[in-house]
Amino acid sequence: MAEAQAPAKLSPMEKYRFKRALEEVEKIQGRGTELVSVFIPPDRPIFEVTNYLRGEYSQSSNIKSASTRKHVMQAIESIINRLKEYKMPPPNGLVCFVGHMDVGADQTKMVAYVLQPPEPVPSFLYRCDSRFYTEPLHEMLAEKDVYGLLVIDQGEATIGLLEGKRITPLKNVQSQVPRKHRMGGQSARRFERLHEQAVHEFFKKIGDLATEAFLNRRELKGLIIGGPGFTKDTFVKEGHLHHELAKTVLGTFDTGYTDESGLRELVANAAEVLRDLDLMREKNLVQHLMDEIRKAEGGLAAYGEEQVRRALELGAVDTLLISEGLRKLRLDLRCPNCGHTETRTVADESTLPKCPDCGKDFEIASRTDIVDVFTSLADRTNAKVELISADSDEGELLIKAFGGIAAILRYRVA
Ligand code: ZN
Repeated sequence: MAEAQAPAKLSPMEKYRFKRALEEVEKIQGRGTELVSVFIPPDRPIFEVTNYLRGEYSQSSNIKSASTRKHVMQAIESIINRLKEYKMPPPNGLVCFVGHMDVGADQTKMVAYVLQPPEPVPSFLYRCDSRFYTEPLHEMLAEKDVYGLLVIDQGEATIGLLEGKRITPLKNVQSQVPRKHRMGGQSARRFERLHEQAVHEFFKKIGDLATEAFLNRRELKGLIIGGPGFTKDTFVKEGHLHHELAKTVLGTFDTGYTDESGLRELVANAAEVLRDLDLMREKNLVQHLMDEIRKAEGGLAAYGEEQVRRALELGAVDTLLISEGLRKLRLDLRCPNCGHTETRTVADESTLPKCPDCGKDFEIASRTDIVDVFTSLADRTNAKVELISADSDEGELLIKAFGGIAAILRYRVA
């Protein structure tokens, strides 16, 4: 029995690259059942995997379609070759995606991905299909910090979840509690009693909904409760929450609203409690950037590809902010006819410009993900790099307003 190494924790950048590779892998389609996926757990000696693959190789000689047979055998051979550099898999194991991808017009292209996943591969798997098999890897990429959210007053309550950076509203409930208004004597006391009863019933209902939404979520880190005035504190103090949930309350916070926007307010106002969450770090970074940009005399900020590239080359960048939603390539282009070369950033490499000198089509000499281009520029001058997720308000702002690239500067660049 081989000794398993401790699981490796991937850096945010490595995790991001894995995520991007997975996106590519999932777009690939085979013409037949000829795309090979292999999952290798960390404790599986490579020679065992290779032996298994040799077995599959001889099996595949029975495949009827000549082209599928050839493609499957080539894919398996390629995986065996790629595994030669290992005796044992790396700490989290390996996932391999190899095969002939359909590129249209009756053509195929061989693709090969050998990746180290963010968490250990639990069990060995071999699959040959017209798509690569990636499902188990999604779970590994999921954000694991989950918080329950509840905003409440006497008229309304909203329950939601904070997962990583994403806020998901689960339930919005309007109460039947009558509004208070002036009444005298007997009817005032009667109204008071009815009102209290209605509030009590509403609280009980919300307590039950919270139990239903939160109690059996093992990954739940805690509950955060908000709302205007004292209602939320009364709700907690009077014990309307299931006792197991009550123990997990991280705090109560003032919010102006009790609808969906109240959930966003709640997350913003609970910033201190959630300080450790990446969400807050990202929020603060983008906020810092905005503060610098807003300064009348021009602050320590740069944004947009050209400005930030210049600042990086000058070594003026303190923190580089890049959106994870950025999908652009930096291409080195070369004209095969006259030799003209140029470098371009494109979102889609299928629509390239023509050579300005002779009008012929360019050839792509090399392509690099723009995130890699900028992070390696940053590394050279010891600038910090922060990947800002695309699914927060701040991440969206970074993409929409600044094309996904911005920087907080060490000094101003003219
Ligand atoms: Zn040319």
